[in-house]
Amino acid sequence: MPDYLPQDTAENSLWGASAIANPVREQLRESLQVDVLVVGGGYTGLSSALHLAERGVSVVLLEAKSIGFGGSGRNAGLVNAGVWQNPAYVRKQLGEEPGNRFNLALRDSPALVSDLVECYDMSCDLQQTGTVHIAHRGGAMKYLEDRCQQLQDLGSAVELIDGESAREISASPVYRHGGIHDPGAATIHPLNYARSLARASQDLGARLFQASAIETLTRQNDRWFATSGSGEVSAEQVIIATNAYADNNSQQVHGSTVPVFIFHCATEPLSAEVAASIIPRRHGLWDTQALLTSSRIDSAGRLVMSSAGRLRGSQRAIRENWMARTRDWLYPQTRGLDWAYRWSGQIGVTSSKLPRVQLLAPGVFAPAGYNGRGIGTGSVIGKHLADTIVSGNRDDFPFPIEALYREKWRRPRAAYYSYGSLALQIGQRR
Ligand SMILES: Cc1cc2nc3c(=O)[nH]c(=O)nc-3n(C[C@H](O)[C@H](O)[C@H](O)COP(=O)(O)OP(=O)(O)OC[C@H]3O[C@@H](n4cnc5c(N)ncnc54)[C@H](O)[C@@H]3O)c2cc1C
Repeated sequence: MPDYLPQDTAENSLWGASAIANPVREQLRESLQVDVLVVGGGYTGLSSALHLAERGVSVVLLEAKSIGFGGSGRNAGLVNAGVWQNPAYVRKQLGEEPGNRFNLALRDSPALVSDLVECYDMSCDLQQTGTVHIAHRGGAMKYLEDRCQQLQDLGSAVELIDGESAREISASPVYRHGGIHDPGAATIHPLNYARSLARASQDLGARLFQASAIETLTRQNDRWFATSGSGEVSAEQVIIATNAYADNNSQQVHGSTVPVFIFHCATEPLSAEVAASIIPRRHGLWDTQALLTSSRIDSAGRLVMSSAGRLRGSQRAIRENWMARTRDWLYPQTRGLDWAYRWSGQIGVTSSKLPRVQLLAPGVFAPAGYNGRGIGTGSVIGKHLADTIVSGNRDDFPFPIEALYREKWRRPRAAYYSYGSLALQIGQRR
């Protein structure tokens, strides 16, 4: 059974190539009866399984492909707090009190990730160096100043940095206007974090299976009954954590987000001299360009960059070349380097730009739509779902629980994001 499957055949993921061993080897071939069935082996499902197992609940997790196959094994590894939108936007969307609870629950999400890493002695290269939302031009600072103030009002330890600090943190001639520094944020090896969560859950007694897609989920004698190949699971409650990777067997989740692709390119380990000259204190950076670009250096000294788009067919060369031009513009000291790794993944976008937690039927929860910010979000939502299931009390759950929700115009909107980013990448001269 393959451990890691690329999204498209020409891809080779850095995270797949540098991963620790996958602790999950089994495919479901038996009939099991548990308290909770978790569907999907990404951060949401794994954090749910871990926190349920911690509380003594019997849990089975079924993953269709391999642990971390979805966004959790493909992302940039920036462990950021909150959501993309400002706290005031969240309060406006959800209402004052629910919005505040939502904001506070995600404010400290990097702390939950680092607590889990420490508590379970995870090997996932967590670098608690902070991240910076960095301005690529002076005009972006007004937005960042307002965002920073709102985050500080929420009690977050972020600070506004000036142009000199931005240049010193990035060592880029472009990033010289300032930004928001979050000292509590971090970078991580995303696939290893997923695999480490899996190992910790198993150690606590959770049973995890991969290559075990659920095919049907039906209600029988007051329990939920799922089938998967030659196996089956009966459970009191179900968490469907398939998010942007929901397949045809989890149709209801499939329709609740718009799939948007992000791609990454990474170099081989940089020479000591070049490595010391880029992002010298190893912050994670993401910028204010229309085609948001992130940069970080991994623990082996490779430069890892990401932006919008899928590496498929003829688009691949266009996007890779654009990323090389962008890299040379941001970090001229890398000029002439080749990309050694490239891969893409899909995020689940929602109209509200906020995650949604659906109750598909009594006892069936389905969180989705993290809009590309899910390391902390998935970890936090999994923990709170476990708390809610154990207590039986939804009042303390800090996210609104909604009925079935469907995004409209999914295909045209997905095409708009894809071709829009491609047009910018073709047209942009550096
Ligand atoms: C390229 C990229 C870059 C990103 N960068 C960042 C970042 O830097 N920081 C950040 O915080 N977030 C980032 N994100 C977002 C983050 O990765 C996701 O929000 C997060 O991983 C979602 O986790 P999840 O567990 O909810 O879903 P996923 O990790 O997508 O897991 C869902 C799983 O469900 C499985 N599944 C589907 N159907 C079935 C079925 N029928 N039966 C069983 N299993 C099934 C899939 O195979 C998949 O493994 C990025 C995402 C992408 C794609």
